[in-house]
Amino acid sequence: MFKNKYQLLQNTFGFDAFRPLQEAVVDKILNREDVLLILPTGGGKSLCYQLPALLMEGVVVVVSPLLALMQDQVHGLTAKGIRSVMMSSMQSGEEIWQAQNDLQNGAVKLVFVAPERLQNEQFLNFLTTLNIAFFAIDEAHCVSEWGHEFRADYRQLGLLKSHFPEVGIAAFTATATTQVEKDIVNQLQFSRSDNIIRGKIYRDNLFISVQSRQGNGHQQLLDFLKNHTNEQGIIYTLSRKNTESLSAFLSTQGLKVRAYHAGLPTEERHQAFSDFVNDEIDIMVATIAFGMGIDKSNIRFVVHMTIPKTMEAYYQEMGRAGRDGMKSEVLLLYSTADLGLLGRFIADIEDEEYRNLAYHKLNLIKKYAFSESCRHQALSHYFDDEMPKCETQCDNCLNPDVERSDISEQAKMFLSTVYRTEQNFGQVYIVDVLLGSKNKKVLNNGHQDLSVYGIGNATSKALWKIIGDRLLEIDALTVNEFKALKLTNFAMKILKSEQTVDIRSRNLQQNTKVVTQIKQQEYAVDEKILEALQALRREIAREENMPAYIIFDNKALTEMAHFLPDSEEKLLQINGVGKIKLEKYGTRFLDLLATLRTDDFQAPIAKTKPTTQKLHPTYQATLALIEQEETIEHICQQRDLTLSTVLSHINKLANIGKIEHTKRQQLFATVPTNETVTHWIMQGLEEVGSIEKIHHHLAIFKQLNQID
Ligand SMILES: [Zn+2]
Repeated sequence: MFKNKYQLLQNTFGFDAFRPLQEAVVDKILNREDVLLILPTGGGKSLCYQLPALLMEGVVVVVSPLLALMQDQVHGLTAKGIRSVMMSSMQSGEEIWQAQNDLQNGAVKLVFVAPERLQNEQFLNFLTTLNIAFFAIDEAHCVSEWGHEFRADYRQLGLLKSHFPEVGIAAFTATATTQVEKDIVNQLQFSRSDNIIRGKIYRDNLFISVQSRQGNGHQQLLDFLKNHTNEQGIIYTLSRKNTESLSAFLSTQGLKVRAYHAGLPTEERHQAFSDFVNDEIDIMVATIAFGMGIDKSNIRFVVHMTIPKTMEAYYQEMGRAGRDGMKSEVLLLYSTADLGLLGRFIADIEDEEYRNLAYHKLNLIKKYAFSESCRHQALSHYFDDEMPKCETQCDNCLNPDVERSDISEQAKMFLSTVYRTEQNFGQVYIVDVLLGSKNKKVLNNGHQDLSVYGIGNATSKALWKIIGDRLLEIDALTVNEFKALKLTNFAMKILKSEQTVDIRSRNLQQNTKVVTQIKQQEYAVDEKILEALQALRREIAREENMPAYIIFDNKALTEMAHFLPDSEEKLLQINGVGKIKLEKYGTRFLDLLATLRTDDFQAPIAKTKPTTQKLHPTYQATLALIEQEETIEHICQQRDLTLSTVLSHINKLANIGKIEHTKRQQLFATVPTNETVTHWIMQGLEEVGSIEKIHHHLAIFKQLNQID
């Protein structure tokens, strides 16, 4: 019976219709043309060569870089009732003989081979005895040295055209810039250089976020995983050691997880692989050795614990999420420390051209990570594809109007310290000087005599690190090969106050512990109201097929339940409600809130937030505790802050109207003071005029009398 492509598509592959671009490629192959298809992972590349294989006379030779990949393909085809074989170093002599026999008598339609086999004279001679329908080349970006996974064996594939000039070549890859694309077509000696079909880079079912990593990132990861209970995902780390330690940590959190890296014994590695593929475990913590060719469509999330080396690698690795087209989430945690480490790896590359290319690629992904514009748009743009902002599928689009903090003053202190220490030191040392550390190295260098010594001690060490990172991000500072910080022209402009420096306020959060505390303790709410808001959120999530927390996070709902906003203006003041979300969901939430206010249960009276100015989380955390009627002593303990810091918070909160002045008095009345000392200070104030001057005299007194 004559079969056409549509019947095959339905009966053998189980699809009613071709996905975008598939049919165009199938037609070109059937037409015996050379064709290059660039289609993101999950776009359905393999169908493009499997279907024509069944419609054409002869066998299809599929070139594939990895044994595991070939095995998966052979299994998958067998399941569809299509006979195929692989010829690799894994087969015994007898198996190879059998495979050759099957190929010669037409019993199989596809043969999978590694590229190096095609350099074997004997094998090439064998191929000439077959009727070859076409060559399919998977992971074709490996052909190009401009790609991220260049393989010398792939370079030799150019010889296919010289040996088989009449046979068409279909090449496939998930990622290729225009430069790589041209290189592939040239190297493979396509008869027509314009037979290139490019799919959209944009994967609209992936939600992308990128965050600066706090410490080892474990807390951020746990927060992320809370939204993915019982779902499968991959977590990529930089080193083998990290995969093991992170996997051990996640196990202690009760998660079903395994580590995977190239250094594991083969058996253990295979076990981990099959456990993951068969859903025996939920999470694979892996180095980049894992995942190429993994044919698992229900991966719901991919996390990068460190920054990948290139945009290509990042896009390919994150692309393993959501291949079934269902909503999935990817998260990248970056730190400037990673960039330093990767930079040192690159410094070891001997070939100058490759080394420069590697630096260039690293710099591009750094820009991406730090960028505040649409992630999907940036990725598309990188791969020479254009798209408008995604609006809803990335962190930057969802939070376009995030609060920013001006850190120009701290930036100047940091940069002056780099300057005063003659641009000879790294970040840790600079922070030591800023904080007035008694570190031996600082004292031996005589840096305690600099005017900048200790000028930064009102700011914590962790915050100084964030500020230093921000200065690296915006290229006010660069790092030389000895890890010393150097000032750029841009730094000079900041120092001269010609440029200001700001940062997303949330990046100033010193550790996620505080953030979690705030989430739990911030506002007292009526549980019924909160439940009603959550129900509406679930309803919208179902309608839009989106994770609920992407619509509004719990913090936003808690604030809504507490403040009961009754206008768009007030709703906008809720944390996490931006203009876009207001437009999309505002009416529904306001309508619901209106009914809650008039409902027969006791609703709290709607409060307006006293100021539009959003508070730094550290004040919010203190405020939450004050609202819970905690004592000052307890607040100090719980926040792990000094008494004077907590008192300064109370003053700030009272001054901006977050707490009543009577409340301040009430709190201050409980602070123990030493009457004698207070008396001396009052006297001193009368004499010298200001607290600063008393500080100054105290410091001199300390030094003259050598009191620590
Ligand atoms: Zn976006």
